Amino acid sequence: MASEVRVRYAPSPTGLPHIGNIRTAMFNWLFARHHGGKFVVRIEDTDQGRLVPGAVDGILDGLEWLDIDWDEGPRVGGDFGSYFQSERLPLYHAEAERLINQGDAYRCYCTRERLTELRQEQERNKQALGYDGYCKRLGDGERRTLEEEGAPCVVRFSMPDSGVTRLHDLIRDDVEWQNELVDDFVLLKSDGFPTYHLAVVTDDHYMQISHVLRAEEWLSSAPRHLQLYRALGYTPPEHGHLPMILGPDRAKLSKRHGATSILEYRDDGFLPDALRNFMVLLGWSLDDKTEVMHIETIQQHFTLDRVGKPAAIFDVEKLSWMNGVYIREMSAEALAEAIMPFLEKGLDPSLLPVDRDYLLRIVPLIQERLKVLTEAPEMVSYFFEEQPVYDPANLVQRGMSDEETVAALEKALPALEGCEFRTEALENRLRELGEELELTPRRFFGTLRWAVTGRNVSPPLFETMEVLGWDRVIARLNWALTQLSG
Ligand code: GLU
Repeated sequence: MASEVRVRYAPSPTGLPHIGNIRTAMFNWLFARHHGGKFVVRIEDTDQGRLVPGAVDGILDGLEWLDIDWDEGPRVGGDFGSYFQSERLPLYHAEAERLINQGDAYRCYCTRERLTELRQEQERNKQALGYDGYCKRLGDGERRTLEEEGAPCVVRFSMPDSGVTRLHDLIRDDVEWQNELVDDFVLLKSDGFPTYHLAVVTDDHYMQISHVLRAEEWLSSAPRHLQLYRALGYTPPEHGHLPMILGPDRAKLSKRHGATSILEYRDDGFLPDALRNFMVLLGWSLDDKTEVMHIETIQQHFTLDRVGKPAAIFDVEKLSWMNGVYIREMSAEALAEAIMPFLEKGLDPSLLPVDRDYLLRIVPLIQERLKVLTEAPEMVSYFFEEQPVYDPANLVQRGMSDEETVAALEKALPALEGCEFRTEALENRLRELGEELELTPRRFFGTLRWAVTGRNVSPPLFETMEVLGWDRVIARLNWALTQLSG
């Protein structure tokens, strides 16, 4: 690549970023890292009416949580600031003024009423919607009067009314638009703020952005931007429009598909590494089959020729699966650390604080089954409870009588009294006893599992007993016995 790669993520702080926005951020970041370039974050806060308090922090915190670091932008600074568009107004005004002076833009005084009427008429006549260029045709005198009166106005770009605008898109190949179908769009609004079009072109130029990689929904803005670059005399950056993201039902991604804000994924127990791996597959692939890839591998191979045109399908089930894969790769220490805040939130407060050493012994028992960290409290609570609460009727396994169950528990107690509390010893001792009692393992261990954990699914019984320890196991067997014989 000839000059330095400089790419940007340019979110509008009109809400918390969801997976689609962050996928865009991530592709830009990967592209920059792959080419040894710069990744810039720029806040596009020009739509003052739609700003959402806290959104900027939500966006930046989300990136930080995912370990997507930026070289320039809010919180880090840089040579091309401000990185907030609302702090760059004089620059946009100067560009608009220049375009007016050279005849590529004009002030438009049309009232809201006129524009509404125009739209209704176009709808009635089944015409293409868009501004009709009325103010472009104002006479000099008329224009001067309106200016002197200080009539409210916007600045519009004067689109060529013939010819075509062509884009060689890095992902979508050649795309072209008939200029006559693109109307004279607004550059500066009456509140003095630029529209997205003017701000994005000005900033991408002044911030020396080399590649614009953004969601496909922006493709229709590209002819406007390219015409603006031409009129301003700037070389446009390369463009690549990333494929859409759809839900498994092929409908536009929405909250219903689990597309919540990025920090919600954190709170829902997803790991940043798993989420990054999952997100990169929304449009990019290494080789059409590899799914689990570490970030170093992804960075090393991330090129745009492996970004597809077809829409990517967002499947939250796959994300959970992938999260499980990443959980299984963690060390017990790291997993215990990651789980701790979820236990602090999810366990009954009377069970807190959690003993770290005890947790370290529990973690390997749940690591296989755990998919999201939020499942942890429910999976481990019986390790911490004094006595798990359950319906004693569950102790009696299908095909067993109450008496047989009582007898099994009564025999288990002395058998465990002197038994070494190690998985293997426990297993040998209890299997022997089961045979003696002529109970199938399903029945005997089913009863014991209920007695020890208060549930019918748990990690392997003997490992669980070892971690629970002698005191808890004996106390729970006694409790079970009292329930049945009481
Ligand atoms: N501010 C736009 C957005 O919110 C950025 C579009 C672009 O990258 O050009 O997505």
